[in-house]
Amino acid sequence: MEETKNIYVTQSSMPPYEEYIEAIKPLWDSHWLTNMGKYHKELEAQLKEYLDVLELSLMVNGHMALELAIQAFGFPEGAEVITTPFTFISTTHAIVRNRLKPVFCDVKKSDGTIDESKIEDLITERTVAIVPVHVYGNVCNIEEIQRIADKYNLKVIYDAAHAFGVRYKGKGIGSFGDASVFSFHATKVFNTIEGGAVTFSERRLYDKLYNLKNFGIRSEELVAEVGANAKMNEFAAIMGLCNLRHIGTALDERKKRYDFYMENLRNVKGIRMFEKKDAATNNYAYFPILIEDGYGKSRDELYMLLKESNIYSRKYFYPITADHACFKNKYRKDDLGNAREISQKVLVLPLYEMLGMDDIAGITKILRKNV
Ligand SMILES: *Cc1c(COP(=O)(O)O)cnc(C)c1O
Repeated sequence: MEETKNIYVTQSSMPPYEEYIEAIKPLWDSHWLTNMGKYHKELEAQLKEYLDVLELSLMVNGHMALELAIQAFGFPEGAEVITTPFTFISTTHAIVRNRLKPVFCDVKKSDGTIDESKIEDLITERTVAIVPVHVYGNVCNIEEIQRIADKYNLKVIYDAAHAFGVRYKGKGIGSFGDASVFSFHATKVFNTIEGGAVTFSERRLYDKLYNLKNFGIRSEELVAEVGANAKMNEFAAIMGLCNLRHIGTALDERKKRYDFYMENLRNVKGIRMFEKKDAATNNYAYFPILIEDGYGKSRDELYMLLKESNIYSRKYFYPITADHACFKNKYRKDDLGNAREISQKVLVLPLYEMLGMDDIAGITKILRKNV
Protein backbone atom coordinates (compact mmCIF):
# COMPACT_ATOMS: atom_id res chain seq x y z
CA MET A 1 0.00 0.00 0.00
CA GLU A 2 1.22 3.52 -0.78
CA GLU A 3 1.89 5.54 2.37
CA THR A 4 -0.04 8.62 1.31
CA LYS A 5 -3.21 7.09 -0.09
CA ASN A 6 -6.34 7.40 2.05
CA ILE A 7 -8.79 4.51 1.93
CA TYR A 8 -12.32 5.41 2.97
CA VAL A 9 -15.09 3.02 3.94
CA THR A 10 -16.77 3.54 0.60
CA GLN A 11 -16.45 5.28 -2.75
CA SER A 12 -19.47 6.30 -4.81
CA SER A 13 -20.15 4.33 -7.98
CA MET A 14 -20.17 6.54 -11.09
CA PRO A 15 -20.82 5.72 -14.73
CA PRO A 16 -18.17 6.68 -17.30
CA TYR A 17 -18.11 10.50 -17.59
CA GLU A 18 -19.02 10.51 -21.32
CA GLU A 19 -21.98 8.23 -20.70
CA TYR A 20 -23.54 10.58 -18.17
CA ILE A 21 -22.80 13.70 -20.25
CA GLU A 22 -24.44 12.10 -23.28
CA ALA A 23 -27.42 11.04 -21.20
CA ILE A 24 -28.13 14.52 -19.78
CA LYS A 25 -27.79 16.31 -23.17
CA PRO A 26 -31.53 16.06 -24.00
CA LEU A 27 -32.28 18.19 -20.94
CA TRP A 28 -30.78 21.19 -22.77
CA ASP A 29 -33.47 20.76 -25.43
CA SER A 30 -36.43 19.98 -23.20
CA HIS A 31 -35.54 22.29 -20.28
CA TRP A 32 -37.59 19.81 -18.21
CA LEU A 33 -35.43 19.39 -15.12
CA THR A 34 -37.81 18.02 -12.51
CA ASN A 35 -41.53 17.49 -11.71
CA MET A 36 -41.89 13.81 -12.63
CA GLY A 37 -40.24 14.14 -16.03
CA LYS A 38 -39.41 11.54 -18.64
CA TYR A 39 -36.37 10.16 -16.78
CA HIS A 40 -38.17 10.03 -13.46
CA LYS A 41 -40.82 7.84 -15.12
CA GLU A 42 -38.20 5.73 -16.86
CA LEU A 43 -36.24 5.11 -13.66
CA GLU A 44 -39.41 4.18 -11.75
CA ALA A 45 -40.22 1.61 -14.44
CA GLN A 46 -36.72 0.14 -14.57
CA LEU A 47 -36.34 -0.03 -10.78
CA LYS A 48 -39.71 -1.72 -10.42
CA GLU A 49 -38.43 -4.43 -12.69
CA TYR A 50 -34.94 -4.68 -11.18
CA LEU A 51 -36.21 -4.75 -7.60
CA ASP A 52 -39.04 -7.10 -8.60
CA VAL A 53 -41.77 -5.13 -6.85
CA LEU A 54 -45.33 -4.27 -7.89
CA GLU A 55 -45.21 -0.55 -7.13
CA LEU A 56 -42.46 2.02 -6.59
CA SER A 57 -42.40 5.74 -5.90
CA LEU A 58 -39.13 7.64 -6.37
CA MET A 59 -38.14 10.21 -3.77
CA VAL A 60 -35.54 12.94 -3.33
CA ASN A 61 -33.67 10.82 -0.74
CA GLY A 62 -34.08 7.77 1.47
CA HIS A 63 -34.96 9.73 4.57
CA MET A 64 -37.91 11.54 2.97
CA ALA A 65 -38.98 8.22 1.47
CA LEU A 66 -39.12 6.78 5.00
CA GLU A 67 -40.78 9.82 6.52
CA LEU A 68 -43.47 9.95 3.84
CA ALA A 69 -43.97 6.17 3.80
CA ILE A 70 -44.76 6.32 7.52
CA GLN A 71 -46.93 9.42 7.06
CA ALA A 72 -48.88 7.73 4.27
CA PHE A 73 -50.55 5.37 6.75
CA GLY A 74 -52.04 8.26 8.75
CA PHE A 75 -51.25 6.98 12.25
CA PRO A 76 -52.70 9.03 15.13
CA GLU A 77 -50.30 11.44 16.85
CA GLY A 78 -48.40 9.89 19.75
CA ALA A 79 -48.99 6.30 18.61
CA GLU A 80 -46.21 3.80 19.24
CA VAL A 81 -43.91 2.28 16.63
CA ILE A 82 -41.70 -0.67 17.50
CA THR A 83 -38.28 -0.30 15.91
CA THR A 84 -34.58 -1.09 16.19
CA PRO A 85 -31.99 1.24 17.71
CA PHE A 86 -29.17 -0.47 15.78
CA THR A 87 -29.52 1.61 12.62
CA PHE A 88 -28.71 4.93 11.01
CA ILE A 89 -30.28 7.85 12.91
CA SER A 90 -32.64 8.46 9.96
CA THR A 91 -34.85 5.50 10.94
CA THR A 92 -35.61 6.89 14.40
CA HIS A 93 -35.86 10.50 13.16
CA ALA A 94 -38.46 9.48 10.56
CA ILE A 95 -40.67 8.05 13.33
CA VAL A 96 -40.20 11.00 15.70
CA ARG A 97 -40.72 13.62 12.97
CA ASN A 98 -44.08 11.96 12.25
CA ARG A 99 -45.02 12.74 15.91
CA LEU A 100 -44.96 9.05 16.73
CA LYS A 101 -43.21 7.42 19.65
CA PRO A 102 -40.34 5.02 18.92
CA VAL A 103 -40.39 1.94 21.14
CA PHE A 104 -36.94 0.41 20.90
CA CYS A 105 -36.67 -3.35 20.64
CA ASP A 106 -33.37 -5.19 21.07
CA VAL A 107 -31.61 -6.89 18.16
CA LYS A 108 -30.08 -10.32 17.65
CA LYS A 109 -26.33 -10.74 18.06
CA SER A 110 -26.30 -13.17 15.15
CA ASP A 111 -27.21 -10.67 12.42
CA GLY A 112 -28.03 -7.31 14.01
CA THR A 113 -31.70 -7.32 12.93
CA ILE A 114 -34.64 -6.72 15.30
CA ASP A 115 -35.18 -9.60 17.75
CA GLU A 116 -38.60 -10.83 16.67
CA SER A 117 -38.99 -12.83 19.90
CA LYS A 118 -39.02 -9.58 21.90
CA ILE A 119 -41.53 -7.64 19.79
CA GLU A 120 -44.77 -9.00 21.28
CA ASP A 121 -43.84 -7.96 24.83
CA LEU A 122 -43.56 -4.35 23.65
CA ILE A 123 -47.00 -4.17 22.05
CA THR A 124 -49.61 -1.99 23.80
CA GLU A 125 -53.02 -0.71 22.71
CA ARG A 126 -51.20 2.32 21.27
CA THR A 127 -48.91 0.31 18.97
CA VAL A 128 -49.63 0.91 15.28
CA ALA A 129 -46.58 -0.27 13.36
CA ILE A 130 -43.24 -2.07 13.27
CA VAL A 131 -40.29 -0.43 11.51
CA PRO A 132 -37.53 -3.05 11.22
CA VAL A 133 -34.25 -2.54 9.32
CA HIS A 134 -32.50 -5.02 7.01
CA VAL A 135 -29.25 -3.79 8.50
CA TYR A 136 -26.17 -4.31 6.23
CA GLY A 137 -28.57 -6.09 3.88
CA ASN A 138 -29.17 -8.81 6.51
CA VAL A 139 -32.77 -9.86 6.07
CA CYS A 140 -35.07 -9.63 9.13
CA ASN A 141 -37.23 -12.55 10.22
CA ILE A 142 -39.95 -11.53 7.78
CA GLU A 143 -42.34 -14.42 8.49
CA GLU A 144 -42.42 -13.92 12.27
CA ILE A 145 -42.69 -10.13 11.98
CA GLN A 146 -45.64 -10.56 9.59
CA ARG A 147 -47.28 -13.10 11.89
CA ILE A 148 -47.13 -10.63 14.80
CA ALA A 149 -48.30 -7.74 12.61
CA ASP A 150 -51.29 -9.75 11.39
CA LYS A 151 -52.18 -10.88 14.90
CA TYR A 152 -52.21 -7.32 16.33
CA ASN A 153 -53.27 -5.51 13.16
CA LEU A 154 -50.03 -3.52 12.79
CA LYS A 155 -48.39 -2.08 9.67
CA VAL A 156 -44.86 -3.18 8.76
CA ILE A 157 -42.63 -0.63 7.07
CA TYR A 158 -39.14 -1.95 6.34
CA ASP A 159 -36.12 0.31 6.22
CA ALA A 160 -34.40 -1.47 3.32
CA ALA A 161 -31.84 1.31 2.75
CA HIS A 162 -29.03 -1.27 2.89
CA ALA A 163 -30.79 -3.97 0.95
CA PHE A 164 -30.85 -2.78 -2.68
CA GLY A 165 -31.12 -5.80 -4.97
CA VAL A 166 -31.41 -8.35 -2.15
CA ARG A 167 -33.82 -11.21 -2.88
CA TYR A 168 -35.49 -13.39 -0.28
CA LYS A 169 -37.11 -16.73 -1.10
CA GLY A 170 -37.11 -15.80 -4.77
CA LYS A 171 -38.80 -12.42 -4.31
CA GLY A 172 -37.50 -8.84 -4.28
CA ILE A 173 -36.86 -7.73 -0.69
CA GLY A 174 -39.06 -4.67 -1.30
CA SER A 175 -42.15 -6.81 -1.77
CA PHE A 176 -42.54 -7.72 1.91
CA GLY A 177 -44.53 -5.89 4.58
CA ASP A 178 -46.82 -2.95 3.81
CA ALA A 179 -43.97 -0.87 2.39
CA SER A 180 -40.17 -0.87 2.11
CA VAL A 181 -37.84 2.06 1.78
CA PHE A 182 -34.60 2.22 -0.20
CA SER A 183 -31.86 4.84 -0.18
CA PHE A 184 -29.96 5.81 -3.33
CA HIS A 185 -27.54 8.05 -1.48
CA ALA A 186 -24.04 8.42 -2.98
CA THR A 187 -22.63 6.01 -0.39
CA LYS A 188 -25.07 3.19 -1.07
CA VAL A 189 -24.69 0.17 -3.41
CA PHE A 190 -26.81 1.91 -6.05
CA ASN A 191 -26.94 5.70 -6.16
CA THR A 192 -28.75 8.58 -7.85
CA ILE A 193 -26.36 11.03 -6.07
CA GLU A 194 -29.17 11.64 -3.55
CA GLY A 195 -32.35 9.66 -3.88
CA GLY A 196 -34.61 6.98 -2.55
CA ALA A 197 -37.81 5.05 -3.15
CA VAL A 198 -40.77 3.48 -1.42
CA THR A 199 -41.89 0.06 -2.70
CA PHE A 200 -45.24 -1.55 -1.95
CA SER A 201 -48.02 -3.63 -3.47
CA GLU A 202 -51.15 -1.50 -3.16
CA ARG A 203 -51.70 0.96 -6.01
CA ARG A 204 -53.66 3.27 -3.70
CA LEU A 205 -50.42 4.04 -1.86
CA TYR A 206 -48.84 5.36 -5.08
CA ASP A 207 -51.35 8.21 -5.28
CA LYS A 208 -50.97 8.94 -1.58
CA LEU A 209 -47.18 9.15 -1.85
CA TYR A 210 -47.50 11.22 -5.02
CA ASN A 211 -49.51 13.78 -3.05
CA LEU A 212 -47.06 13.75 -0.17
CA LYS A 213 -44.03 14.28 -2.43
CA ASN A 214 -45.61 16.96 -4.62
CA PHE A 215 -47.47 19.41 -2.35
CA GLY A 216 -50.70 17.44 -2.75
CA ILE A 217 -51.09 18.99 -6.21
CA ARG A 218 -53.31 16.88 -8.49
CA SER A 219 -53.96 19.43 -11.24
CA GLU A 220 -53.50 23.13 -11.99
CA GLU A 221 -56.31 24.17 -9.72
CA LEU A 222 -56.60 21.25 -7.35
CA VAL A 223 -54.54 20.78 -4.19
CA ALA A 224 -56.07 17.64 -2.71
CA GLU A 225 -54.08 17.44 0.52
CA VAL A 226 -51.17 18.86 2.49
CA GLY A 227 -47.91 17.54 1.10
CA ALA A 228 -44.19 18.16 1.18
CA ASN A 229 -41.75 18.42 -1.73
CA ALA A 230 -39.71 15.23 -2.09
CA LYS A 231 -39.48 14.76 -5.85
CA MET A 232 -36.41 13.32 -7.55
CA ASN A 233 -35.00 15.64 -10.23
CA GLU A 234 -34.05 14.59 -13.76
CA PHE A 235 -30.25 14.84 -13.29
CA ALA A 236 -30.53 12.43 -10.37
CA ALA A 237 -32.86 10.11 -12.29
CA ILE A 238 -30.40 10.01 -15.22
CA MET A 239 -27.54 9.22 -12.84
CA GLY A 240 -29.70 6.32 -11.64
CA LEU A 241 -30.42 5.09 -15.16
CA CYS A 242 -26.68 5.14 -15.96
CA ASN A 243 -25.66 3.44 -12.72
CA LEU A 244 -28.36 0.82 -13.16
CA ARG A 245 -26.80 -0.22 -16.49
CA HIS A 246 -23.62 -1.12 -14.60
CA ILE A 247 -25.14 -2.59 -11.45
CA GLY A 248 -24.32 -6.17 -12.48
CA THR A 249 -20.61 -5.38 -12.80
CA ALA A 250 -20.68 -3.31 -9.61
CA LEU A 251 -22.13 -6.22 -7.62
CA ASP A 252 -19.67 -8.72 -9.19
CA GLU A 253 -16.73 -6.50 -8.22
CA ARG A 254 -18.09 -6.11 -4.69
CA LYS A 255 -18.53 -9.87 -4.39
CA LYS A 256 -14.89 -10.53 -5.35
CA ARG A 257 -13.71 -8.17 -2.66
CA TYR A 258 -16.19 -9.46 -0.07
CA ASP A 259 -15.04 -13.05 -0.72
CA PHE A 260 -11.38 -12.03 -0.46
CA TYR A 261 -12.02 -10.38 2.92
CA MET A 262 -13.80 -13.56 4.05
CA GLU A 263 -10.95 -15.77 2.93
CA ASN A 264 -8.45 -13.64 4.84
CA LEU A 265 -10.46 -13.12 8.02
CA ARG A 266 -12.52 -16.29 8.37
CA ASN A 267 -10.22 -17.96 10.84
CA VAL A 268 -8.91 -14.99 12.80
CA LYS A 269 -9.49 -15.53 16.51
CA GLY A 270 -11.80 -12.89 18.00
CA ILE A 271 -13.16 -11.61 14.69
CA ARG A 272 -16.76 -12.59 13.99
CA MET A 273 -18.98 -11.97 10.98
CA PHE A 274 -22.76 -11.57 11.00
CA GLU A 275 -24.79 -14.54 9.80
CA LYS A 276 -26.60 -14.40 6.47
CA LYS A 277 -29.86 -16.27 5.80
CA ASP A 278 -29.61 -19.11 3.29
CA ALA A 279 -32.83 -18.01 1.60
CA ALA A 280 -31.50 -14.48 1.03
CA THR A 281 -29.07 -13.21 -1.59
CA ASN A 282 -26.17 -10.96 -0.63
CA ASN A 283 -25.72 -7.50 -2.17
CA TYR A 284 -22.23 -7.10 -0.68
CA ALA A 285 -23.15 -3.62 0.53
CA TYR A 286 -20.90 -3.62 3.61
CA PHE A 287 -18.23 -5.66 5.30
CA PRO A 288 -18.94 -5.38 9.03
CA ILE A 289 -16.82 -7.34 11.49
CA LEU A 290 -17.32 -7.81 15.23
CA ILE A 291 -14.28 -7.55 17.48
CA GLU A 292 -14.94 -10.07 20.23
CA ASP A 293 -13.14 -10.47 23.56
CA GLY A 294 -10.74 -13.09 22.20
CA TYR A 295 -9.15 -10.56 19.86
CA GLY A 296 -5.93 -8.89 21.01
CA LYS A 297 -7.31 -5.35 20.86
CA SER A 298 -10.59 -3.49 21.39
CA ARG A 299 -12.68 -2.24 18.48
CA ASP A 300 -11.64 1.35 19.20
CA GLU A 301 -7.95 0.42 19.32
CA LEU A 302 -8.26 -1.37 16.00
CA TYR A 303 -10.11 1.60 14.51
CA MET A 304 -7.21 3.88 15.51
CA LEU A 305 -4.60 1.44 14.28
CA LEU A 306 -6.21 1.31 10.84
CA LYS A 307 -6.49 5.09 10.83
CA GLU A 308 -2.74 5.38 11.43
CA SER A 309 -2.31 3.53 8.14
CA ASN A 310 -4.76 5.95 6.44
CA ILE A 311 -7.53 3.35 6.43
CA TYR A 312 -10.82 4.90 7.48
CA SER A 313 -13.12 2.20 8.80
CA ARG A 314 -16.44 3.19 10.41
CA LYS A 315 -18.06 2.44 13.77
CA TYR A 316 -21.31 1.92 11.96
CA PHE A 317 -23.58 1.99 14.04
CA TYR A 318 -22.26 3.49 17.23
CA PRO A 319 -23.82 4.71 19.43
CA ILE A 320 -27.26 3.10 19.03
CA THR A 321 -29.87 5.69 18.03
CA ALA A 322 -31.65 5.47 21.41
CA ASP A 323 -28.49 6.78 23.12
CA HIS A 324 -28.01 9.89 20.97
CA ALA A 325 -28.11 13.30 22.66
CA CYS A 326 -31.31 14.38 20.84
CA PHE A 327 -33.29 11.55 22.47
CA LYS A 328 -31.83 11.95 25.96
CA ASN A 329 -34.33 10.79 28.60
CA LYS A 330 -37.15 10.83 26.06
CA TYR A 331 -37.86 7.19 25.33
CA ARG A 332 -37.58 3.87 27.07
CA LYS A 333 -34.20 2.39 26.28
CA ASP A 334 -33.60 -0.46 28.71
CA ASP A 335 -33.22 -4.08 27.63
CA LEU A 336 -31.11 -3.10 24.64
CA GLY A 337 -28.11 -5.14 25.73
CA ASN A 338 -27.41 -6.88 22.43
CA ALA A 339 -27.74 -3.67 20.42
CA ARG A 340 -25.34 -1.83 22.74
CA GLU A 341 -22.91 -4.75 22.77
CA ILE A 342 -22.66 -5.12 19.01
CA SER A 343 -22.49 -1.36 18.51
CA GLN A 344 -19.40 -1.43 20.73
CA LYS A 345 -17.86 -4.32 18.82
CA VAL A 346 -18.71 -3.55 15.22
CA LEU A 347 -16.37 -2.07 12.64
CA VAL A 348 -17.26 -1.63 8.97
CA LEU A 349 -14.26 -2.16 6.70
CA PRO A 350 -13.78 -0.40 3.34
CA LEU A 351 -15.72 -2.10 0.55
CA TYR A 352 -16.46 -0.73 -2.90
CA GLU A 353 -16.21 -1.67 -6.54
CA MET A 354 -12.80 -0.10 -7.24
CA LEU A 355 -11.10 -1.04 -3.95
CA GLY A 356 -7.73 -2.65 -4.75
CA MET A 357 -7.31 -6.32 -3.87
CA ASP A 358 -3.82 -5.36 -2.61
CA ASP A 359 -5.49 -2.81 -0.32
CA ILE A 360 -7.68 -5.56 1.14
CA ALA A 361 -4.59 -7.70 1.60
CA GLY A 362 -2.97 -4.78 3.46
CA ILE A 363 -6.03 -4.18 5.65
CA THR A 364 -6.45 -7.83 6.59
CA LYS A 365 -2.72 -8.10 7.31
CA ILE A 366 -3.10 -5.38 9.95
CA LEU A 367 -6.16 -7.17 11.37
CA ARG A 368 -4.39 -10.52 11.56
CA LYS A 369 -1.29 -9.10 13.23
CA ASN A 370 -3.08 -8.34 16.47
CA VAL A 371 -4.10 -11.81 17.43
C1 LIG B 1 -28.82 5.81 4.25
C2 LIG B 1 -29.86 5.38 5.20
C3 LIG B 1 -31.08 6.06 5.35
C4 LIG B 1 -31.35 7.42 4.75
O1 LIG B 1 -31.15 7.51 3.42
P1 LIG B 1 -30.70 8.88 2.73
O2 LIG B 1 -30.84 8.58 1.27
O3 LIG B 1 -29.29 9.15 3.14
O4 LIG B 1 -31.62 9.96 3.17
C5 LIG B 1 -32.05 5.52 6.17
N1 LIG B 1 -31.85 4.38 6.84
C6 LIG B 1 -30.68 3.71 6.76
C7 LIG B 1 -30.52 2.43 7.52
C8 LIG B 1 -29.64 4.20 5.96
O5 LIG B 1 -28.47 3.56 5.93
